[in-house]
This record gives sequence, C-alpha cells and structure tokens, in this order.
Amino acid sequence: ATPTAIMVGTGKGAQNGILYKSAEALETAHAIDTVVLDKTGTVTEGRPQVTDLLPAPGVEEEELLRLAASLESPSGHPLGLAIVGEAARRSLPPAAAGEFETVEGEGVKAKIEGRLLHGGNRRMMEHAGVDTAAFDADCERLSASGKTPLYFSCGEEMLGVVAVADIIKPTSKQAVRELQAMGLRVIMLTGDNRRTAEAIRRQLGIDEALAEVLPQDKEQKVRQLQSQGRKVAMIGDGINDAPALARADVGIAIGAGTDIAIESADVVLMHSDLLDAVGAFQLSRSVIRNVR
Ligand code: ADP
Ligand code: MG
Repeated sequence: ATPTAIMVGTGKGAQNGILYKSAEALETAHAIDTVVLDKTGTVTEGRPQVTDLLPAPGVEEEELLRLAASLESPSGHPLGLAIVGEAARRSLPPAAAGEFETVEGEGVKAKIEGRLLHGGNRRMMEHAGVDTAAFDADCERLSASGKTPLYFSCGEEMLGVVAVADIIKPTSKQAVRELQAMGLRVIMLTGDNRRTAEAIRRQLGIDEALAEVLPQDKEQKVRQLQSQGRKVAMIGDGINDAPALARADVGIAIGAGTDIAIESADVVLMHSDLLDAVGAFQLSRSVIRNVR
C-alpha cells in the first residue's frame, strides 16, 4: 500500500478507537486467517462473581466462604478477588494467611489458623492428595453451564466447592459471527478447565477452544498454529497474554487491559470492544484492496 493509503487507513482506525501502532500492522492484518481469543477479560468481562457454594458435609456454607477468602486474600487473581469480594459482602472477615504460594495454572495454598489449605482446580487437589470424588458430579454440572468450580481443602479433607462465573461481554457473540463471516477461523485460548471452556465455546459459536493452557504455554500455541501455515492474530488483555501477542502475526490488545499487553501488541482496541477487531481487519482489507 502507498504511504498515503496507510496514513488514511490509520487515521480512520484512530477515529474509530482502533489504534494501529505501525504501518506494518495495518498491512499484515489483511492476510490473517486465524483469530485466537483469550477468554477471561477479552471474551468475558474479566470480573468473575461467586455463583454457588457447595460445602462438604459438616462444613457451614459461611465457614467454607470465610476459609476460601482467607486463603485467597493475598491472591490478586480475578478468581481470588471474586471470593474475597463475596466474603466481604457477607461481612465475613478473612483470617491471616501464612506461607502463601501460587501454583501457576492450578491455584493457591497457605496456612490458615494453623492448618494447610489448598484451593484451585482438580489438578491442584490431585497434587494435595485430596479425594474430590464426592464433588465431581456437581462440578461437571457447574462446568457444563459455563461456571468455573474451584475446590477447597484443609489437609486432605475437602472443605467444599466455590463456583465462580464471568459475564460474557455483550458484543462477543456478534464479533465472533462477523469474524467468521470474513472467513476467519476463531479459536479461544484459556487456562480454565475443558468443560467450562467448551460451554462458552458453544454459547458463542467459536470454532475451537484450547483449554487448560498454562500461562507460559499461550505463546507456544500461537507458534504451533503458525507452523501449520496459519497467519495468526491474537487478541488478549492480560500479563500472561503478552508473549503470545508479541509472537502473533498481529497482536491485538484490549484497551482496558494491562500495560504489558498493550505494549506487546501491534493494534490496540481503545473501546475494549471485540467488534472493533472486526473493524480492524475490514479496514486493513479495504486499504490493501484499494492499492491493487
Ligand atoms: P485464566 O486466567 O485463563 O483463567 P489461569 O492460568 O490464571 O488462567 O488459571 C487457570 C486455572 O487455575 C483457573 O481456571 C483455576 O481453576 C486455577 N486457579 C488459578 N489461580 C487460582 C486462584 N487464585 N484460586 C483458585 N484457583 C485458581
Ligand atoms: Mg485475560
């Protein structure tokens, strides 16, 4: 494309809240055939809420929530914040957490009131040697409706399950449909469990969901698609999306996302609306088409 066409294109983008950081980004975007979407904070609002409390026999509902919130209080993870927020709403003061540790892609552990507590997904419980069998059917049901069940244990005993769910952004479904109408394959990438990811994939009509991806493996998933000959755009908001955004042929950051995601991207969606990603590809195609 000519410098003038590029200038007009980037100007038009900027007017619509689509910030191309370089001429190259605008040019490359027309050749994209695959769009990888991060789930939390990109497809969903990224502010999950507690939806269900399933205490183990002999455990009070509020005691489960209080202990879970105590364990999560040092965690800045959105799932942890949801639980801490719900306990605060119910005026349950958290106990102090000692020796707090995060296990990447699995959950958290800490000493609460002298006892070792674990919280997280099933993998976390397996590592803690906790038998979750009594909760598995309930967790499958919760996951099938798109909620994320989190297991909490004390020693090797289950305390219960706290389910958390995130609201899908109002324009996500339409954006997926319009991307597909442009001939793009839409893939969702998440650290969340397979069943929850599958439920959200189905709700939005997304072509494929890659679930249980560890934060450090997101970039590798993008590389894998590229090695299959695909031209990949990655859309994300989080710290753990940054390497994948940098690796993608076009990295697109949600404007409301973290600074590092915005720095790593080639395009920024200032209104944090996925529909603007559709606009970004359309604009690029029209700029390239006009010069041919
Ligand atoms: P994502 O941000 O895509 O959900 P993460 O790698 O941050 O991916 O988390 C993956 C999974 O690990 C979560 O779905 C959850 O099951 C578990 N997990 C991570 N952090 C926590 C936490 N603070 N408390 C409970 N579970 C957690
Ligand atoms: Mg995210």
